[in-house]
Amino acid sequence: MTEFELIARYFARPVHERQGIGDDCALIDVGDRTLAITCDLLSENTHFFPDVEPASLGHKALAVNLSDLAAAGARPRCFLLALSLPRAHADWLEAFSRGMFELAAREGCELVGGDTTRAPRIAGHAGPVTICVTAIGEVERSSLRGRGGARPGEDLWVSGELGEAALAVAHGQGQVRLDEATARACRRRMEWPQPRVALGLALRGLASAAIDISDGLLGDLAHVMERSGVGACVDARRVPRSDAMRAIEPELQRRCVLAGGDDYELLFAATPERREAIERVGRECCIAITRIGALTAEPGLRLVGDEQGIDATLRGFDHFAGAAEA
Ligand code: ADP
Ligand code: MG
Repeated sequence: MTEFELIARYFARPVHERQGIGDDCALIDVGDRTLAITCDLLSENTHFFPDVEPASLGHKALAVNLSDLAAAGARPRCFLLALSLPRAHADWLEAFSRGMFELAAREGCELVGGDTTRAPRIAGHAGPVTICVTAIGEVERSSLRGRGGARPGEDLWVSGELGEAALAVAHGQGQVRLDEATARACRRRMEWPQPRVALGLALRGLASAAIDISDGLLGDLAHVMERSGVGACVDARRVPRSDAMRAIEPELQRRCVLAGGDDYELLFAATPERREAIERVGRECCIAITRIGALTAEPGLRLVGDEQGIDATLRGFDHFAGAAEA
């Protein structure tokens, strides 16, 4: 059973809200307003190593949620924090909260609640740190968008440069030897992701569909294709990457930019008439925005400029892929 089959089988139910399971945010109408709500969990040893800088963890726990709000074009309003900790370590908590509140202040959202518990000891060892943030934003009713609004013939765009967080992981696992400056830059991308909130807001009325890239470009594109009922054609050569990434051997480079997780850039669709407006938005937000392909009526994904073709390992991260069913 994959992660998404699990969710579909046991948790996805018809809801009366504007939008339930299956998108970056749930959309809840309240009077004449619409709230966008999302939650993401970070677990020690799955999402981060025990020795990670706690300030970066506080930042990232909030950032990954604000990234989902950005995809929905929502303005962050507030968030809740649920923590399970093996111990109350003052220095760790001081740094963790500082990292979180610095981002919260920058994005104008406040912590309004949460829950705190002690992690159980397991076989004499301290249990893992688990952090779950729930973020709430506001969306303009006139410019709602999710993963399902893309249409054939539209352009496919992506913000920023992809794959550096995955390259940091590959370096950590000894699959590649990066020079010190590159390793530091990649690690920074992994540990201090910048949610594209301003871009998400600026794309209101321009993008017809959007998703944030958390599980890899092609895997997240597949969610847009499925929800929108479209196919896609992507030019692998156009997928944006840093100069340091271009110097990496081609197979690892390709895996990082096409399937690397933890990028938190926005992937979005828009009609070709919007090209100039979108390029203007990129300049105003000081972020590179690249047109990497188009959506097609013909189903499935076509990758051009890539000889190897798509295999299962490029399809995006799945927490339960390959796990034995017990
Ligand atoms: P994202 O990567 O944007 O955080 P996910 O891929 O994790 O989204 O989740 C896909 C969809 O499934 C989302 O709409 C999410 O809210 C929903 N979802 C995930 N886990 C559960 C769960 N245990 N119960 C209900 N909905 C879930
Ligand atoms: Mg998301």
